[in-house]
Amino acid sequence: MDQRFSLNTLKKMAAEADYTDVSLTAPERVRALAKMGANVEINEDVEPWRYFRSGVEMERMAAIYLEEGSLENAYVLYTKFITLFVEKLPAHKDYQQCRVPEKQLVMQKLQEVAFSRKDELRKRLEEKYSREHAHFLQVQKQAEAESGRDQPPQHLPVLDGDRRRVLLLESERQRVAAMRRMQIESEQFRYFEEQLRRQEVDSRRGEGAEHKVPEVTDGSCWSRQSISDGARSQRAGPNRNRPPPPVTQSAAALAAVHSERAELLRRMVIPKDLTSRFLLLADSNSAHGNETCGVLCGRLQRDQFVVTFLVIPKQSSGPDFCDMENVEELFSFQDQQNLLTLGWIHTHPTQTAFLSSVDLHTHAAYQLMLPEAVAIVCAPKHNDVGVFRLTCAGMSEVSSCRLKGFHPHSKEPPLFSVCEHVQVRDSTINVLDLR
Ligand SMILES: [Zn+2]
Ligand SMILES: [Zn+2]
Repeated sequence: MDQRFSLNTLKKMAAEADYTDVSLTAPERVRALAKMGANVEINEDVEPWRYFRSGVEMERMAAIYLEEGSLENAYVLYTKFITLFVEKLPAHKDYQQCRVPEKQLVMQKLQEVAFSRKDELRKRLEEKYSREHAHFLQVQKQAEAESGRDQPPQHLPVLDGDRRRVLLLESERQRVAAMRRMQIESEQFRYFEEQLRRQEVDSRRGEGAEHKVPEVTDGSCWSRQSISDGARSQRAGPNRNRPPPPVTQSAAALAAVHSERAELLRRMVIPKDLTSRFLLLADSNSAHGNETCGVLCGRLQRDQFVVTFLVIPKQSSGPDFCDMENVEELFSFQDQQNLLTLGWIHTHPTQTAFLSSVDLHTHAAYQLMLPEAVAIVCAPKHNDVGVFRLTCAGMSEVSSCRLKGFHPHSKEPPLFSVCEHVQVRDSTINVLDLR
């Protein structure tokens, strides 16, 4: 399957489902949103408990969107939540055997809030879209009156009045489109593109394509210097602290944008003292040449993720591994504090900052649940810090890779890259050390 085909497919999908189009009726626009929310697929290789854990956070995010009045985001997320846990996950081969407290919690959220909030949101959106549609019709009528014509020009040459009407309609459409947020749909498209790539990789493997050799050691790491420089971290790269994108693109334009571009991701804000605090806590392990790991937790705030807590769980580690233990303790803390899982951090006591094959697998699980999740690697010996995420190629290769332990992956295209959606801010991190 070639790239052009997949992009065309996406464009076509986008053309079918542009919820920002005010010329559509309110029910049509809400249907377009519902379609995005229903567009959920599960991966049989991911254990159900991860979905339940993620579901708890998904509902948490949806509640925040609702609270902030971001109706479209909230509606799509609640729809997704319902689709995932009512329709899709029960078909997972290990669904019945899965017994985690989160399963209970998700069922409770389904019963108590998800359906009713989705319904309430649908009503509010319909009201809002009806008003916008009425306004659109009014503008259209006005433009027609000014042009002195009853019918649109069709194939006749466009006259002055018609031109003005077309401009008016266009500006009206753009005004409304500009009010929309892009993330919800971008997430869908990214997911789709990943699926398409994955199929492509699978079919290539079927043809006997060889798996190439070892680790990508990406040189473009985020240096420790720049992370501690906070506001001045512009130096770390021209794109790193890019302002949020304008939101005027249409869904079709968005679909055409390459899925790995930072503007498709919501911003991730990281406090500037995060790595120095973490390295202090890791100090004695690092001195013995052993790794240390921690989980980055935080909030969703006006469509940005903000890392507020570094939690160091109980763990066992060696020179090239670090396994978290007793994660329930971490989860219950997150639930008490209403915190989202935004990524993880670990040290490479002797090596440079990059993602090993084991790290790639660890991070794929984070990124599958949250596309914006980051993997921070601190290499104290090299005075180096990297903030990474998997590329689309990385996600598709790693999520279909069955190997465990250290093993080779393809080298080209790169499987991970430096995050462009991260911003270091002059704030302080809260630390919880559970060891
Ligand atoms: Zn590592
Ligand atoms: Zn692998």
